[in-house]
Amino acid sequence: MSSPQSSLQQKRLRRLEKLYGRLKQSLVGIGFIFPGSIVRRFMPCGKPSCHCATDVNKRHGPYYEWTRKLKGKTVTVRLTAEQARRYEDWIRNRRKLKKILMRMQAVSIQAAQNQATTMLRH
Ligand SMILES: [Zn+2]
Repeated sequence: MSSPQSSLQQKRLRRLEKLYGRLKQSLVGIGFIFPGSIVRRFMPCGKPSCHCATDVNKRHGPYYEWTRKLKGKTVTVRLTAEQARRYEDWIRNRRKLKKILMRMQAVSIQAAQNQATTMLRH
């Protein structure tokens, strides 16, 4: 026979399993993931006669760069506007994935804590 306490814990565990299942499901639709970040820049060309030399609002661009850490070093790659749009989506996917994983971990810790009280009480 189970005590009221342990049935409450079973209930909690079922609720946590349901929540965990929903989080797992939300991973299914995530597309490609990409590290780093995209930077959008406007640059002067260096010619003293060019309008960009005197007016910051008339600098050339936008230029897109993808920046990431690789073995502790910052690596920058020049991108086209189309690449920048695509990779921004993939970077968003990665952030979303990480957020979901952190929530899955938090739910797992709650499940373990729920289990720990059971063990202490027996
Ligand atoms: Zn210029």
